[in-house]
Amino acid sequence: QGIERGEFVLHYQPQIDLASGRIVGAEALVRWRHPQLGLVPPGKFIPVAEVSGLIVMIGEWVLGEACRQNCAWQQAGLPAISIAVNISAVQFRSGRIEDNVAAVLADTGLAPELLELELTEGIVMVGANATVETLQRISDMGVKLAIDDFGTGYSSLSYLKRFPIDRLKIDRSFIADIVTEPDDAAIAQTIIAMAHTLRLEVIAEGVETEAQLALLRRWRCDAYQGYLYGRPLTPQQFLQQLSPTPAP
Ligand code: C2E
Ligand code: MG
Ligand code: MG
Repeated sequence: QGIERGEFVLHYQPQIDLASGRIVGAEALVRWRHPQLGLVPPGKFIPVAEVSGLIVMIGEWVLGEACRQNCAWQQAGLPAISIAVNISAVQFRSGRIEDNVAAVLADTGLAPELLELELTEGIVMVGANATVETLQRISDMGVKLAIDDFGTGYSSLSYLKRFPIDRLKIDRSFIADIVTEPDDAAIAQTIIAMAHTLRLEVIAEGVETEAQLALLRRWRCDAYQGYLYGRPLTPQQFLQQLSPTPAP
């Protein structure tokens, strides 16, 4: 019913290039604007939607809406940024993801390299040949692939060389204590070094303080997102953030 009534909305969290300080992307994060419950966060309904299978419908809507929004921003004259969309393992296994992506790109005309799919380690760990082939075809379209919450899953690293991955997102649980916990600092620093050795980009999530950012800069992390720069924003707020400030 929520889908039929158009109650789902996307908020967008800026992704910042560490070297230039510029917004280079945005992660689309779904919320359910429920008539009685108010704005329901994804952690509350995605797990339920995964069990019921409704995540496939929600996920397809998210993919389409995020791409449409990115095109709209570009048509409004904003600099080109990439849009990151979270893909549930259940949605991936529905077998429709490749067709969905191709259809959305054709419908919207969005440049494929401006779309990034955020996969969980659960998707790639299944490791079936079909998974590799599907991801390879999506990658061949020009779409970018990232591993979300990197380091919290099964931690087999062999998939990094088998799959056409472009970027790792260091889970925010590691970032939270990099300033005070030497072990967390070592893990984050090692993920960054490993990613670069494998010619992958790396982005840190959940960056909340300047001290965390200073360490990430020292370790040559490529990009970050987090409350320090900004919380997820409505499309209107995001447009204002991204608009070049008019000369005085
Ligand atoms: P995620 O993909 O790892 O998204 C990052 C989450 O961390 C977001 O929570 C974001 O609001 C939050 N966050 C960002 N910066 C900070 C920070 O500095 N500090 C802290 N403490 N948190 C920060 P959100 O929006 O509640 O989303 C939670 C999870 O729900 C996402 O984790 C993702 O796994 C899932 N999700 C969100 N949208 C979608 C979607 O469209 N499809 C699917 N399948 N999953 C989604
Ligand atoms: Mg994500
Ligand atoms: Mg994450």
